[in-house]
Amino acid sequence: MNTTPTVNQTASESHLREQVAACTLMLNELEILGYSGHVSARLQGDRILIQSFDQSRAALKPDMLLICDLDGRMLSGPDGQRPPAEVFLHTEILRVRPDVNSVAHFHHDRTTVFTLADGPRLVAIKNHAVRWASGIPVHADPSHVNTAARGRALAATLGEHHAALIRAHGQVVVAESIPALLIDCVHFVENAVAMYDAALLGRVLALSDDEIESFKRDLKRDKHISKLWTYYVGRARAQGLLPSDWSL
Ligand SMILES: [Zn+2]
Repeated sequence: MNTTPTVNQTASESHLREQVAACTLMLNELEILGYSGHVSARLQGDRILIQSFDQSRAALKPDMLLICDLDGRMLSGPDGQRPPAEVFLHTEILRVRPDVNSVAHFHHDRTTVFTLADGPRLVAIKNHAVRWASGIPVHADPSHVNTAARGRALAATLGEHHAALIRAHGQVVVAESIPALLIDCVHFVENAVAMYDAALLGRVLALSDDEIESFKRDLKRDKHISKLWTYYVGRARAQGLLPSDWSL
């Protein structure tokens, strides 16, 4: 188990609130997240930040986020709000993966399609997809992850990997921070769409072990995440999607 020091524990709650809200708005604008799905961040003390069941992913604000415990119970949040039904997907992964500080769950159709046909399994075929070189497991149960038992089962399917598909349902991506999570979600979907397109042209050529090792050596993950986070935040601010006073 990777026990990399937890990045989120150095960030203040208010900073994390702004990052989670911004990440959600950007993933929605990128059409990775839609009318459902969610982003969570680990807080100190076995607590998480997550949006509510009802709040629109297109209009999320930092003070709308809930704080829940790892049993999925809401500890604080706006009156009348409740956790998303699939809060257990987040809590049970965060419970058993100390290297993970942020989780995204979404239902991206062009990615989900890899669980719907008796065709090639989704694998890393693009350079930035080396993040998933260890494999992208497929969770066989398509049910909503709306109980702790289902959350534990999904966490077991994910294992030590950094993303998983849920058959006929969606995806889960995990990372060490919210900026890393946004960039991983972008690259995860890029890779799936690229593989779908490549399969239309012919036999898909997965990355070889040598190519994977070469990309891993060359890729400076922290610098890459910082560069792309700056790009996407800047783009979103120019579009008026993100307020300029959020500390991102
Ligand atoms: Zn779902």
